[in-house]
Amino acid sequence: MVLNELGARINSALHALSKEPVIDEKAVDALLREICTALLESDVNVRLVQQLRQNVRKRINMDELSASANKRKVIQTAVFDELCTLVDPGVQPWVPRKGKQNVVMFVGLQGSGKTTSCTKLAAYYKRKGMKVGLVCADTFRAGAFDQLRQNASRAHIPYYGSYTEADPVLIAMEGVKQFKKDKFDLIIVDTSGRHKQEMELFAEMQQIAKAVRPDNTVFVMDGTIGQAADSQARAFKETVDIGSIIITKMDGHAKGGGAISAVAATGSPIIFIGTGEHMHDLDKFSARPFVSKMLG
Ligand code: GDP
Repeated sequence: MVLNELGARINSALHALSKEPVIDEKAVDALLREICTALLESDVNVRLVQQLRQNVRKRINMDELSASANKRKVIQTAVFDELCTLVDPGVQPWVPRKGKQNVVMFVGLQGSGKTTSCTKLAAYYKRKGMKVGLVCADTFRAGAFDQLRQNASRAHIPYYGSYTEADPVLIAMEGVKQFKKDKFDLIIVDTSGRHKQEMELFAEMQQIAKAVRPDNTVFVMDGTIGQAADSQARAFKETVDIGSIIITKMDGHAKGGGAISAVAATGSPIIFIGTGEHMHDLDKFSARPFVSKMLG
């Protein structure tokens, strides 16, 4: 992870501050400016950075700061807490309940890691003793069903899909119906993600959601997309009722700010992060350890 580049920048700014002979408002403002530049470069959305700056500034009492033996720690803690607040929407994440036939729909752009994450989540709950089924409602991308079939087979997870049916809504309905009939605990529906024809993609998502009535909709976002995270998450949020988020590719070049922006844009909690291409590369998300890693 390159998450902790931000930590190195903030630490060096704090170090510079501690060398200042007098720590006054001007010095604190300069420090916050430097920290905010580092946050922007870590892909945190500009509005959120401004908000964080104001909040940190409000929290720092100049008299207390001058009297404090560890000035760096005071500022560091304020920044840490504010970042935690941004990445934690204060909503209890949805979890499938045993004894209920839970339906989860996955949405996200093509290449975000949706199909991979569907299998990862299925394997996670299978390990917890649930009867899990996967439905491939992506008829747009050639090879989507084969990919899900291969992943599911490898994980020994039952799957449903079709090589001949072109209507993803029908496939989703039929798949969910069959798994419900067979008393599955968790039914995960993978939908298609596209780069183009976004309107069509969004209309299709709405139709599938209407047909299968998911208990939760998981928005999958590539953690390496940087500042595009805010607008992408907003576009999805406006169309479907996003319940949770999975941020993928956090083993790559992701800097963490994209995840923060996605939470802020949707008001939904991150439930897992993807940390690799393999089935078990899925980590449960927790705000404080995530921010700790970001700050190095
Ligand atoms: P979809 O089009 O959204 O269904 O995306 P896929 O599931 O096909 O994933 C696109 C590519 O990203 C594949 O090569 C996956 O192996 C890869 N991928 C998915 N999640 C992760 C992750 O957490 N880390 C890494 N490094 N690669 C991932």
